[in-house]
Amino acid sequence: MQRRTLLALSLAAPFLGRAAQAQPATLPVVASFSILGDMVKQVGGALVAVRTIAGPDVDAHSFQPRPSDAEAVRQARLVVRNGLGFDSWLDRLIRSSGYGGPVATASQGVTPRSMEHGHDHGHSHSHGHGHSHAAGAQDPHAWQDLKNGQAYVRTIAAALSEADPANASTYAANAEAYLAKLVALDGWVKAEVESVPQARRAVVTSHDAFGYFGAAYGVEFLAPQGISTDSEPSAAQVARLIRLLKQRNITAVFLENMANPATLRRLADEAGVTVKGRLYADALSAADGPAATYEAMFRHNVGLLVPAMKG
Ligand SMILES: [Zn+2]
Repeated sequence: MQRRTLLALSLAAPFLGRAAQAQPATLPVVASFSILGDMVKQVGGALVAVRTIAGPDVDAHSFQPRPSDAEAVRQARLVVRNGLGFDSWLDRLIRSSGYGGPVATASQGVTPRSMEHGHDHGHSHSHGHGHSHAAGAQDPHAWQDLKNGQAYVRTIAAALSEADPANASTYAANAEAYLAKLVALDGWVKAEVESVPQARRAVVTSHDAFGYFGAAYGVEFLAPQGISTDSEPSAAQVARLIRLLKQRNITAVFLENMANPATLRRLADEAGVTVKGRLYADALSAADGPAATYEAMFRHNVGLLVPAMKG
Protein backbone atom coordinates (compact mmCIF):
# COMPACT_ATOMS: atom_id res chain seq x y z
CA MET A 1 0.00 0.00 0.00
CA GLN A 2 2.75 2.38 1.02
CA ARG A 3 4.73 1.69 -2.17
CA ARG A 4 1.65 2.17 -4.28
CA THR A 5 0.95 5.56 -2.74
CA LEU A 6 4.54 6.65 -3.31
CA LEU A 7 4.37 5.51 -6.92
CA ALA A 8 1.16 7.45 -7.44
CA LEU A 9 2.74 10.55 -5.92
CA SER A 10 5.87 10.25 -8.01
CA LEU A 11 3.82 9.93 -11.20
CA ALA A 12 1.68 12.88 -10.23
CA ALA A 13 4.72 14.95 -9.26
CA PRO A 14 5.18 16.80 -12.58
CA PHE A 15 1.63 18.05 -12.37
CA LEU A 16 1.81 18.90 -8.67
CA GLY A 17 5.10 20.69 -9.30
CA ARG A 18 3.57 23.03 -11.83
CA ALA A 19 0.52 23.62 -9.69
CA ALA A 20 2.80 24.61 -6.82
CA GLN A 21 4.30 27.34 -9.01
CA ALA A 22 0.79 28.82 -9.31
CA GLN A 23 0.61 27.94 -12.98
CA PRO A 24 -2.37 26.15 -14.47
CA ALA A 25 -2.03 22.40 -13.92
CA THR A 26 -1.24 20.43 -17.04
CA LEU A 27 -3.75 17.89 -18.27
CA PRO A 28 -2.31 14.35 -18.04
CA VAL A 29 -3.03 12.56 -21.35
CA VAL A 30 -2.06 9.03 -22.36
CA ALA A 31 -1.56 8.24 -26.06
CA SER A 32 -1.28 4.62 -27.18
CA PHE A 33 1.61 5.15 -29.63
CA SER A 34 4.15 7.75 -30.69
CA ILE A 35 2.33 9.29 -33.69
CA LEU A 36 -0.75 10.04 -31.55
CA GLY A 37 1.53 11.29 -28.77
CA ASP A 38 2.98 13.88 -31.16
CA MET A 39 -0.47 14.98 -32.36
CA VAL A 40 -1.65 15.47 -28.76
CA LYS A 41 1.49 17.56 -28.06
CA GLN A 42 0.90 19.71 -31.17
CA VAL A 43 -2.70 20.46 -30.15
CA GLY A 44 -2.20 20.54 -26.38
CA GLY A 45 1.08 22.47 -26.28
CA ALA A 46 2.09 23.50 -22.78
CA LEU A 47 -1.37 22.69 -21.43
CA VAL A 48 -0.88 18.93 -21.57
CA ALA A 49 1.57 16.37 -20.19
CA VAL A 50 1.57 13.51 -22.70
CA ARG A 51 2.60 9.99 -21.83
CA THR A 52 3.11 7.76 -24.90
CA ILE A 53 2.80 4.03 -24.17
CA ALA A 54 4.35 2.43 -27.30
CA GLY A 55 7.24 4.84 -27.83
CA PRO A 56 9.62 5.70 -30.70
CA ASP A 57 10.71 2.77 -32.90
CA VAL A 58 8.41 0.42 -30.97
CA ASP A 59 6.10 -1.98 -32.82
CA ALA A 60 2.63 -1.25 -31.44
CA HIS A 61 1.10 -4.29 -33.20
CA SER A 62 2.66 -6.71 -30.74
CA PHE A 63 3.07 -4.38 -27.80
CA GLN A 64 3.13 -5.75 -24.25
CA PRO A 65 2.18 -3.11 -21.66
CA ARG A 66 4.16 -2.87 -18.41
CA PRO A 67 2.73 -2.27 -14.91
CA SER A 68 3.92 1.36 -15.04
CA ASP A 69 1.73 1.85 -18.13
CA ALA A 70 -1.37 0.84 -16.14
CA GLU A 71 -0.37 3.37 -13.50
CA ALA A 72 -0.03 6.11 -16.15
CA VAL A 73 -3.47 5.29 -17.53
CA ARG A 74 -4.94 5.40 -14.03
CA GLN A 75 -3.52 8.92 -13.55
CA ALA A 76 -4.74 10.22 -16.92
CA ARG A 77 -7.65 12.52 -17.57
CA LEU A 78 -7.84 11.57 -21.25
CA VAL A 79 -6.70 8.46 -23.15
CA VAL A 80 -6.22 8.60 -26.94
CA ARG A 81 -6.05 5.45 -29.05
CA ASN A 82 -5.89 4.74 -32.79
CA GLY A 83 -8.62 2.11 -32.99
CA LEU A 84 -9.15 -0.10 -36.09
CA GLY A 85 -7.63 -3.00 -34.14
CA PHE A 86 -4.15 -1.43 -34.01
CA ASP A 87 -3.89 -0.89 -30.27
CA SER A 88 -6.49 -3.25 -28.81
CA TRP A 89 -4.01 -4.05 -26.00
CA LEU A 90 -4.91 -0.59 -24.69
CA ASP A 91 -8.47 -1.71 -23.98
CA ARG A 92 -7.14 -4.42 -21.68
CA LEU A 93 -4.78 -1.91 -20.09
CA ILE A 94 -7.66 0.50 -19.44
CA ARG A 95 -9.70 -2.28 -17.84
CA SER A 96 -6.85 -3.47 -15.62
CA SER A 97 -5.95 0.09 -14.56
CA GLY A 98 -9.43 0.92 -13.32
CA TYR A 99 -9.41 4.13 -15.42
CA GLY A 100 -12.95 5.44 -15.89
CA GLY A 101 -12.29 8.67 -17.81
CA PRO A 102 -12.79 9.57 -21.47
CA VAL A 103 -11.21 7.50 -24.27
CA ALA A 104 -10.91 9.19 -27.68
CA THR A 105 -10.54 7.03 -30.80
CA ALA A 106 -8.48 9.11 -33.20
CA SER A 107 -9.56 7.17 -36.29
CA GLN A 108 -13.28 7.72 -35.66
CA GLY A 109 -14.87 9.13 -38.79
CA VAL A 110 -12.15 8.00 -41.22
CA THR A 111 -13.16 5.50 -43.88
CA PRO A 112 -11.33 2.27 -43.03
CA ARG A 113 -9.58 0.30 -45.76
CA SER A 114 -9.99 -3.43 -45.71
CA MET A 115 -7.55 -5.82 -47.29
CA GLU A 116 -10.33 -7.03 -49.59
CA HIS A 117 -10.46 -3.60 -51.26
CA GLY A 118 -6.78 -3.17 -51.23
CA HIS A 119 -3.73 -4.55 -52.81
CA ASP A 120 -3.57 -8.19 -52.05
CA HIS A 121 -0.11 -9.32 -53.05
CA GLY A 122 -0.52 -12.93 -52.27
CA HIS A 123 -0.23 -12.86 -48.52
CA SER A 124 -3.13 -14.39 -46.71
CA HIS A 125 -5.67 -12.33 -44.86
CA SER A 126 -4.99 -14.33 -41.76
CA HIS A 127 -2.07 -11.94 -41.21
CA GLY A 128 -4.52 -9.56 -39.59
CA HIS A 129 -4.39 -8.38 -36.08
CA GLY A 130 -3.88 -11.48 -34.08
CA HIS A 131 -7.05 -13.12 -33.11
CA SER A 132 -9.97 -10.77 -32.87
CA HIS A 133 -9.41 -9.00 -36.21
CA ALA A 134 -8.21 -11.85 -38.39
CA ALA A 135 -11.50 -12.21 -40.26
CA GLY A 136 -12.40 -8.56 -40.90
CA ALA A 137 -8.79 -7.49 -41.57
CA GLN A 138 -9.30 -3.74 -41.33
CA ASP A 139 -6.18 -1.82 -42.19
CA PRO A 140 -5.33 0.26 -39.09
CA HIS A 141 -2.62 2.51 -40.63
CA ALA A 142 -5.01 5.38 -41.44
CA TRP A 143 -2.50 8.07 -40.33
CA GLN A 144 -0.43 7.41 -43.47
CA ASP A 145 -2.95 9.58 -45.39
CA LEU A 146 -2.57 13.22 -44.27
CA LYS A 147 -6.31 13.80 -44.80
CA ASN A 148 -6.96 11.14 -42.19
CA GLY A 149 -4.27 12.73 -40.02
CA GLN A 150 -6.28 15.94 -40.15
CA ALA A 151 -9.38 14.03 -38.98
CA TYR A 152 -7.29 12.58 -36.13
CA VAL A 153 -6.27 16.12 -35.10
CA ARG A 154 -9.87 17.36 -35.08
CA THR A 155 -10.93 14.39 -32.93
CA ILE A 156 -8.03 14.98 -30.53
CA ALA A 157 -8.80 18.72 -30.28
CA ALA A 158 -12.45 18.00 -29.48
CA ALA A 159 -11.47 15.44 -26.84
CA LEU A 160 -8.98 17.83 -25.19
CA SER A 161 -11.62 20.59 -25.12
CA GLU A 162 -14.12 18.27 -23.53
CA ALA A 163 -11.63 17.06 -20.91
CA ASP A 164 -10.41 20.61 -20.18
CA PRO A 165 -13.18 23.06 -21.22
CA ALA A 166 -11.45 26.08 -19.64
CA ASN A 167 -8.76 25.89 -22.33
CA ALA A 168 -10.99 24.98 -25.27
CA SER A 169 -10.18 28.13 -27.24
CA THR A 170 -6.42 27.45 -26.99
CA TYR A 171 -6.86 23.86 -28.18
CA ALA A 172 -8.99 25.10 -31.10
CA ALA A 173 -6.39 27.72 -32.10
CA ASN A 174 -3.50 25.24 -31.82
CA ALA A 175 -5.46 22.71 -33.89
CA GLU A 176 -6.20 25.27 -36.64
CA ALA A 177 -2.53 26.23 -36.93
CA TYR A 178 -1.46 22.57 -36.99
CA LEU A 179 -4.15 21.62 -39.53
CA ALA A 180 -2.93 24.37 -41.87
CA LYS A 181 0.54 22.80 -41.79
CA LEU A 182 -0.87 19.34 -42.52
CA VAL A 183 -2.90 20.68 -45.47
CA ALA A 184 0.26 22.25 -46.92
CA LEU A 185 2.22 19.03 -46.32
CA ASP A 186 -0.49 17.02 -48.11
CA GLY A 187 -0.10 19.26 -51.17
CA TRP A 188 3.67 18.86 -51.07
CA VAL A 189 3.43 15.04 -50.92
CA LYS A 190 1.06 15.00 -53.93
CA ALA A 191 3.37 17.24 -55.97
CA GLU A 192 6.43 15.16 -55.08
CA VAL A 193 4.76 11.88 -56.10
CA GLU A 194 3.50 13.45 -59.34
CA SER A 195 7.12 14.17 -60.30
CA VAL A 196 7.64 10.38 -60.59
CA PRO A 197 6.66 8.73 -63.92
CA GLN A 198 3.46 6.79 -63.31
CA ALA A 199 4.90 3.40 -64.24
CA ARG A 200 7.67 3.87 -61.63
CA ARG A 201 5.34 4.51 -58.68
CA ALA A 202 5.86 1.15 -56.94
CA VAL A 203 7.65 0.39 -53.70
CA VAL A 204 8.44 -2.68 -51.59
CA THR A 205 8.33 -2.37 -47.79
CA SER A 206 8.41 -4.79 -44.86
CA HIS A 207 4.70 -4.92 -44.02
CA ASP A 208 1.47 -3.51 -45.42
CA ALA A 209 1.59 -0.20 -43.53
CA PHE A 210 1.23 2.13 -46.52
CA GLY A 211 -2.16 1.16 -47.99
CA TYR A 212 -3.70 4.53 -47.08
CA PHE A 213 -0.62 6.37 -48.35
CA GLY A 214 -0.80 4.42 -51.60
CA ALA A 215 -4.48 5.15 -52.11
CA ALA A 216 -4.16 8.85 -51.26
CA TYR A 217 -1.04 9.64 -53.29
CA GLY A 218 -1.09 7.08 -56.08
CA VAL A 219 1.78 4.79 -55.13
CA GLU A 220 1.61 1.00 -55.20
CA PHE A 221 3.11 -0.62 -52.09
CA LEU A 222 4.07 -4.29 -52.09
CA ALA A 223 5.00 -6.13 -48.91
CA PRO A 224 5.95 -9.69 -47.97
CA GLN A 225 4.17 -9.27 -44.64
CA GLY A 226 0.51 -8.37 -44.08
CA ILE A 227 -1.06 -5.45 -42.25
CA SER A 228 0.22 -6.74 -38.93
CA THR A 229 3.74 -7.77 -38.01
CA ASP A 230 2.87 -10.76 -35.86
CA SER A 231 3.53 -13.50 -38.42
CA GLU A 232 6.35 -14.21 -40.84
CA PRO A 233 5.67 -14.45 -44.58
CA SER A 234 5.96 -17.89 -46.15
CA ALA A 235 8.83 -18.77 -48.50
CA ALA A 236 6.31 -18.92 -51.36
CA GLN A 237 5.08 -15.38 -50.63
CA VAL A 238 8.63 -14.04 -50.60
CA ALA A 239 9.51 -15.91 -53.82
CA ARG A 240 6.44 -14.50 -55.55
CA LEU A 241 7.37 -10.96 -54.55
CA ILE A 242 10.95 -11.43 -55.81
CA ARG A 243 9.60 -12.52 -59.23
CA LEU A 244 7.35 -9.44 -59.27
CA LEU A 245 10.26 -7.12 -58.47
CA LYS A 246 12.32 -8.54 -61.33
CA GLN A 247 9.44 -8.51 -63.84
CA ARG A 248 8.52 -4.91 -63.11
CA ASN A 249 12.05 -3.65 -62.51
CA ILE A 250 11.15 -2.23 -59.09
CA THR A 251 14.19 -0.79 -57.33
CA ALA A 252 12.55 1.11 -54.44
CA VAL A 253 12.94 -1.38 -51.58
CA PHE A 254 12.73 -0.14 -48.00
CA LEU A 255 13.02 -1.35 -44.43
CA GLU A 256 10.74 -0.03 -41.70
CA ASN A 257 11.87 1.40 -38.41
CA MET A 258 9.93 -0.99 -36.16
CA ALA A 259 10.00 -4.21 -38.20
CA ASN A 260 12.50 -7.04 -38.33
CA PRO A 261 14.79 -6.30 -41.31
CA ALA A 262 15.84 -9.91 -42.05
CA THR A 263 13.14 -10.81 -44.60
CA LEU A 264 13.50 -7.55 -46.53
CA ARG A 265 17.28 -7.81 -46.71
CA ARG A 266 17.05 -11.37 -48.03
CA LEU A 267 14.35 -10.37 -50.52
CA ALA A 268 16.44 -7.45 -51.81
CA ASP A 269 19.55 -9.66 -52.09
CA GLU A 270 17.70 -12.31 -54.09
CA ALA A 271 16.08 -9.72 -56.35
CA GLY A 272 19.46 -8.07 -56.92
CA VAL A 273 18.47 -4.63 -55.59
CA THR A 274 19.87 -2.60 -52.73
CA VAL A 275 17.73 -1.53 -49.77
CA LYS A 276 17.23 2.23 -50.16
CA GLY A 277 16.78 3.10 -46.50
CA ARG A 278 14.37 3.02 -43.60
CA LEU A 279 10.80 4.27 -43.75
CA TYR A 280 8.91 5.30 -40.63
CA ALA A 281 5.66 3.37 -40.73
CA ASP A 282 4.00 2.72 -37.38
CA ALA A 283 6.24 4.66 -35.00
CA LEU A 284 8.22 7.89 -34.95
CA SER A 285 11.96 8.07 -34.42
CA ALA A 286 13.56 9.20 -31.17
CA ALA A 287 13.71 12.99 -30.69
CA ASP A 288 17.15 13.26 -32.33
CA GLY A 289 16.17 11.02 -35.29
CA PRO A 290 14.85 11.94 -38.76
CA ALA A 291 11.14 11.39 -38.00
CA ALA A 292 10.57 12.76 -34.53
CA THR A 293 7.16 14.21 -35.41
CA TYR A 294 4.23 13.22 -37.63
CA GLU A 295 5.17 15.98 -40.10
CA ALA A 296 8.88 15.02 -40.09
CA MET A 297 7.89 11.41 -40.74
CA PHE A 298 6.18 12.38 -44.02
CA ARG A 299 9.05 14.61 -45.11
CA HIS A 300 11.54 11.84 -44.36
CA ASN A 301 9.54 9.06 -46.05
CA VAL A 302 8.72 11.07 -49.18
CA GLY A 303 12.30 12.35 -49.34
CA LEU A 304 13.44 8.71 -49.58
CA LEU A 305 10.58 7.30 -51.67
CA VAL A 306 10.59 9.76 -54.57
CA PRO A 307 14.27 9.50 -55.64
CA ALA A 308 14.18 5.71 -55.14
CA MET A 309 11.09 5.32 -57.36
CA LYS A 310 12.69 7.47 -60.06
CA GLY A 311 15.56 4.95 -59.97
ZN1 LIG B 1 1.68 -1.81 -39.01
